[in-house]
Amino acid sequence: MHLRLLTRCVVLAACSLAARVAPAAERPPNVILIVSDDQGYADVGFHGSKEILTPHLDALAASGTVCTAGYVTFPVCSPSRAGFLSGRHGARFGYDTNPDQRTSNAHAAGLPLSERTMADALRAAGYRTGLVGKWHLGLEPYFHPNERGFDEFFGFTAGGHQYWEWKPGQGYTAPLVRNRDVVPDTEKRYLTDLLSDEAVSFVERNREKPFFLYLAFNAPHSPLQASPEYLKRVPHLSGRRQIYAAMIVAMDDGIGRLRQKITELGLERDTIVLFITDNGGPNQDNASINTPLRGRKSQLWEGGIRVPYVVSWPGKVAAGARSDRPVSTLDFLPTVLTPAGVDLRNKPGLEGVNLLPYLGGERTGDPHEYLYWRHRNGSWAVRSGDWKLVTDVDGKEHLFNLASDLGETTDLTKTQPEVAARLRRAWETWNASNATSIPWLAPGKSLWPSREQPNSP
Ligand code: CA
Repeated sequence: MHLRLLTRCVVLAACSLAARVAPAAERPPNVILIVSDDQGYADVGFHGSKEILTPHLDALAASGTVCTAGYVTFPVCSPSRAGFLSGRHGARFGYDTNPDQRTSNAHAAGLPLSERTMADALRAAGYRTGLVGKWHLGLEPYFHPNERGFDEFFGFTAGGHQYWEWKPGQGYTAPLVRNRDVVPDTEKRYLTDLLSDEAVSFVERNREKPFFLYLAFNAPHSPLQASPEYLKRVPHLSGRRQIYAAMIVAMDDGIGRLRQKITELGLERDTIVLFITDNGGPNQDNASINTPLRGRKSQLWEGGIRVPYVVSWPGKVAAGARSDRPVSTLDFLPTVLTPAGVDLRNKPGLEGVNLLPYLGGERTGDPHEYLYWRHRNGSWAVRSGDWKLVTDVDGKEHLFNLASDLGETTDLTKTQPEVAARLRRAWETWNASNATSIPWLAPGKSLWPSREQPNSP
């Protein structure tokens, strides 16, 4: 009895001591997820661009690891965001196209309420959560970011925005909002600068507790609009390419200011920073370039789904490193929730992998045996090791060895039929448990009419 009591006292004393001496080491890391919109794979300095100047993104990349085979789950905006915010592939819940807000079915046009977001999970873990910028996961009140885990929201809920103009109404000129309140015109300035200001402010205001900032720039998504100051910074270019480059310079400046603030506050080693583009560059639409990759936004060729992808956490993730292992934006959720102390063992359906052991040098090899894609237009793709099997919209299969043929030029289905068969079987098995596509266009269907819909964990 006495021994048991003594043991208990020792344990309590040890716990008490640990609580006193180790708070800094045990502070969960802040998380900053920066997303650019429709930026080309070739259009960052850390991928070798000499035209598009991104010194601050390059410094971020140098502070962490560039994943040169980093993939989004879908080649357009909304399903891609649905994937990395929920940690689940959109095909799992039928979210495999951009929602059409103009239909009579607009009440269903958003991230289904069955899905929890990264912000929901981090907020439940004690984080202060904020979204600055583009939402594009539903316009209805029950889809609003404040209902999806974000304590704070500054930005717009549509799929894009003008860079100078906002006024009453919907679409690309809709007023900016802070939570649900319209932002006064007195705050009007170049949109990318405004979003950067808000991101810096969020970090400054919330520095005392763990925070999650989702900084979703709409740059360099169309419309192509840049201020004269930024155009002057890219005098070596002309025409639409110059405007596009200037929009990226503005975003890069903002990322520089945000990182400077993190440094001033002494939070570098307490902050995970992730950077991606939400899908491949659309080429002619905004003058983006995806070389050496084939294809563009909306396609399942590499140019649609392989994007600039950086993971930075000084002291935990290798700095100045590059990894060509295939990774996914589905990996973001476990990568940030694990050090946040969230137990993921009872969260079925998560297909991502915690990348920290791989990027910190504790584990080697491919984090994934397979990565999958499914497009509403009927095309699909699967990657395993160096191999990729992808179909076009007519169902014709193409097999590539990306280690020797990154540009997807030489179809090997005839010479490597057994590889193609293995990948096809894997994709069919994966797809067998997927949901049918949400019928955005079907009238009269009431899928998620209210907050009363069950919200699974
Ligand atoms: Ca996009």
